[in-house]
Amino acid sequence: MARGKPEFDNEKCKGCTLCIEVCPVNILKMSDDFNKQGVQYATCIDDDACIACKFCAMMCPDMVIKVVQYV
Ligand code: SF4
Ligand code: SF4
Repeated sequence: MARGKPEFDNEKCKGCTLCIEVCPVNILKMSDDFNKQGVQYATCIDDDACIACKFCAMMCPDMVIKVVQYV
């Protein structure tokens, strides 16, 4: 299984939650913090569990997420 890690440009996130809904291993959540747009942004709660499927990055309408793939 591939491994990786999602990286977020938090300031660009509009909090639509589409990435959270699509992640097959359910490791994306909304942060308790707010960005400069005043929205709670998406974040990863368990980088070690990411399988680098890139579904989150493909789903995000604002290209907030870049997935780094290790293997
Ligand atoms: S790359 Fe896949 S497993 Fe990793 S956070 Fe995104 S949707 Fe989840
Ligand atoms: S899909 Fe993009 S804009 Fe929507 S919550 Fe996720 S990172 Fe933010």
